[in-house]
Amino acid sequence: MTQFDYDLFVIGAGSGGVRASRIASGHGARVAVAEEYRIGGTCVIRGCVPKKLLVYASQFADDLGHAGDYGWTIEGATFDWPKLRDAVARDVDRLNLAYTNTLNSNNVTHFLDRAEITGPNSVRLKASGQTITAKTILVATGAWPVAPTFPGAEHTITSNEVFHLETLPKRVVIAGAGYIAMEFAGVFNALGSAVTVVNRSDAILRSYDIDLRERLLAIARARGITFRFNAPFDRVDKAADGSLLVHLGDGGEPIAADVVLVATGRRAKTDGLGLENAGIALGNRGEIPVDHEGRTSCPSIFAVGDVTDRVQLTPIAIREGQAFADGQFAARPTAVSYEAIPSAVFSQPPLAAVGPTEAEARAEHGEIKVFTSDFRPMKNIFSQRIERGFYKLLVDAKTDRVLGIHMIGPDAPEILQAAAIAVKAGLTKADFDATVALHPSMAEELVLMR
Ligand SMILES: Cc1cc2nc3c(=O)[nH]c(=O)nc-3n(C[C@H](O)[C@H](O)[C@H](O)COP(=O)(O)OP(=O)(O)OC[C@H]3O[C@@H](n4cnc5c(N)ncnc54)[C@H](O)[C@@H]3O)c2cc1C
Repeated sequence: MTQFDYDLFVIGAGSGGVRASRIASGHGARVAVAEEYRIGGTCVIRGCVPKKLLVYASQFADDLGHAGDYGWTIEGATFDWPKLRDAVARDVDRLNLAYTNTLNSNNVTHFLDRAEITGPNSVRLKASGQTITAKTILVATGAWPVAPTFPGAEHTITSNEVFHLETLPKRVVIAGAGYIAMEFAGVFNALGSAVTVVNRSDAILRSYDIDLRERLLAIARARGITFRFNAPFDRVDKAADGSLLVHLGDGGEPIAADVVLVATGRRAKTDGLGLENAGIALGNRGEIPVDHEGRTSCPSIFAVGDVTDRVQLTPIAIREGQAFADGQFAARPTAVSYEAIPSAVFSQPPLAAVGPTEAEARAEHGEIKVFTSDFRPMKNIFSQRIERGFYKLLVDAKTDRVLGIHMIGPDAPEILQAAAIAVKAGLTKADFDATVALHPSMAEELVLMR
């Protein structure tokens, strides 16, 4: 019988890779993982976690603005970007250590090195040159920002670099209108930067319900964010003083900026991975195609998380990693359910959704009932701010089942996580109606829509 160095070799110690490694090890497998950057992966090191800390920081600007309406006098409030940036970096260090400790305490060997596949059962570590064999290989290499190709692209940054800026930029141009673009637009706007969002199409957040998108766009504009739609990048010039000038193909004026953040999407991270050495061909979007077990076209190689480009969210990568480990090392096959996945955009205000959009629900289910609530959050009552929240409930007309919930307003992600349980459980509108409102709250709108 062939002797392998490990039962499982995992490439990438991010959300999916760490979960798969420790669970497989717990099931008795000899496991090693290679990580080319920092253990923890995108979510912990340069994604969800540091991003959310910046969102919290920027929300203080809002609260300070409101505080006067509630009787407070705030004098001399100032904001210190390096202090925030360094605090965020310290928390990232803490999490990096916690994830490393998790691997150690679960007997997972880790190599801080880049791994490349050399065959169905072997990888080579780039820096050390070591070749390692394994019965099973799991690719969990995540995704990477799509690289811009216009002239002057080298003067731009991506979300990878945004957490390390020396100073808070006075003027920020953001390319793209997906969730990462809208989140950073909200952060920089609230912290006082002049923000322009530039998009090649005329829409933001394409996968979300149209009513939420329109509401967010109106509020973002009212808060001072400028949008340039149907405006592809022509080039970015850099002046001797370091300032940038963004030329767009919409015939409009160029935009002066201190930072240009490109957030135009993320692509599976497979460059130079050696997949061809195991006969694995990529899909149309550069992703690794897998079956329901996460198995690639090579029987000994599996893939989970963003690199498979099914749903690029941390909880999905974690579930896929868990399902892979249980299925392959505990003979406990578990199918990951991709139905009713809640998601959020931590814009300002945030939005959150579960289930199909209204357009998708009509296409899928035919006759549906739509319930909406358009309300002024109580916290805004004292202030001049006229921002309104908006909730939408989509109900199957035949079965009364709640198919989807779409919300924009303060704390929408926190509220939606709980409401998503009801959607996943298949509860009906009658169940919502029978639930007593929790008053006074914004969430009560969910059970008061008639
Ligand atoms: C700015 C930003 C904000 C986000 N916000 C959210 C959010 O709010 N909620 C949410 O659910 N998701 C969010 N995401 C997405 C989330 O981070 C990803 O879906 C998740 O991290 C995917 O996990 P993964 O295990 O597939 O890959 P990753 O976590 O990306 O891990 C892959 C790891 O593999 C390593 N690697 C790659 N190639 C190699 C190689 N050849 N050898 C060794 N190591 C390698 C990488 O360095 C990385 O550490 C955000 C992403 C970004 C960029």
